[in-house]
Amino acid sequence: MPLRYFVESFTMSSVTQVQASAAHESDSPKPDLRDFSLHELEGMVRESGERTFRARQIMGWLWSRGAESFDSMHDLPAEFRGNLKQRFDIGSIARPHVARSSDGTRKLLIRLRDAEDIESVIIPTEGRTTLCISSQAGCAMGCGFCATARMGLHRNLAAGEILGQVMAARCELDPGETLTNYVFMGMGEPLANYPRLHRALTVMTSDWGLGISPRRITVSTVGLAPAMDRLLADFPVHLAVSLHATTDEVRDRIAPINKRFPLQVLIDACKALPIARRRRITFEYVMLDGVNDSSNDAHRLVKMLAPLRAKVNLIFFNPFPDAGFMPSSRERVADFQAILHRGNLTATIRESRGRDIAAACGQLFAERNPAAVSLPRSEAASPA
Ligand code: SAH
Repeated sequence: MPLRYFVESFTMSSVTQVQASAAHESDSPKPDLRDFSLHELEGMVRESGERTFRARQIMGWLWSRGAESFDSMHDLPAEFRGNLKQRFDIGSIARPHVARSSDGTRKLLIRLRDAEDIESVIIPTEGRTTLCISSQAGCAMGCGFCATARMGLHRNLAAGEILGQVMAARCELDPGETLTNYVFMGMGEPLANYPRLHRALTVMTSDWGLGISPRRITVSTVGLAPAMDRLLADFPVHLAVSLHATTDEVRDRIAPINKRFPLQVLIDACKALPIARRRRITFEYVMLDGVNDSSNDAHRLVKMLAPLRAKVNLIFFNPFPDAGFMPSSRERVADFQAILHRGNLTATIRESRGRDIAAACGQLFAERNPAAVSLPRSEAASPA
């Protein structure tokens, strides 16, 4: 199974991507098997003289059984296993450190092969357990109220690193607990890393991969308008748009991407999206005291979203050192919600989770925080 196969059979963008993830973005010279689709693996298996069905077998090991070594794939011919081992790694991430909040939220601090740190969060709520996934190490979007933005963008995550978070989280579940929902609301802007997000979503939603219904996956974007359309054309996932303001003046200030895609452009792009029947776009709105939380803002929001099938998620701002913003009071958030309701707009209030371990929205940042890494990973846990 010569590595030449990859170079010959991939499109240029795939080649660039594989080389980038294998060579430039990590120290390992070996590509991560978790980066590949079934189709790619089938081509590779045929190239190596093995029968095509072996690719599905490997995928079963990777995604259904959570195999982390080639040695465990005992129904593959030994020589073929040896070949795979020589040329690939499985999983480019080490076991995470886990911090558990008093509310059951668990933050996974994951160190990548090149020593970048990313975070994923397991959030149990009534009847569901949600995994919050990172798509980049750091973020380039520069939103004023978000701690991750202060890091700047370190790099895109490879598909295998995005998927590795799901596999790592499965090992940290409590007995009887399963992941039911997946939200791309961790570090980074998922639509700014679209090729790898696409790869990861392909594995997540395929029967040969993780077999997750796309309806259980939410991709949250700061509003990269042109990429939203592409995402929904490719996957019927749920879309969340981080809106946070009702005037360009305020949005320019707190979410600078607005200078490129101003409110009207963003809303027009949302109007044109192929939203399935009975589905709605979620608009996220972080409530910042005296900045975007006035009654006028609420009325403008009703008007702005009236032409859309929309719901609003009002988020309590989670402060961090030198944030420069204060959270709106509970009463203000309730009043704001009441105005939206009177305007026939569904609006929920997102309660903050995991604040004591800095796992709440916008608090994810990759400084090693001793309090966050004090709980060792349970040695008893095994891949799901
Ligand atoms: N880049 C994507 C996804 C990551 S942010 C996006 O912008 O949607 C996920 C959500 O957390 C966004 O709605 C974001 O605005 C919100 N958020 C960021 N910082 C926050 C903070 N300090 N308090 C509360 N919510 C925050």
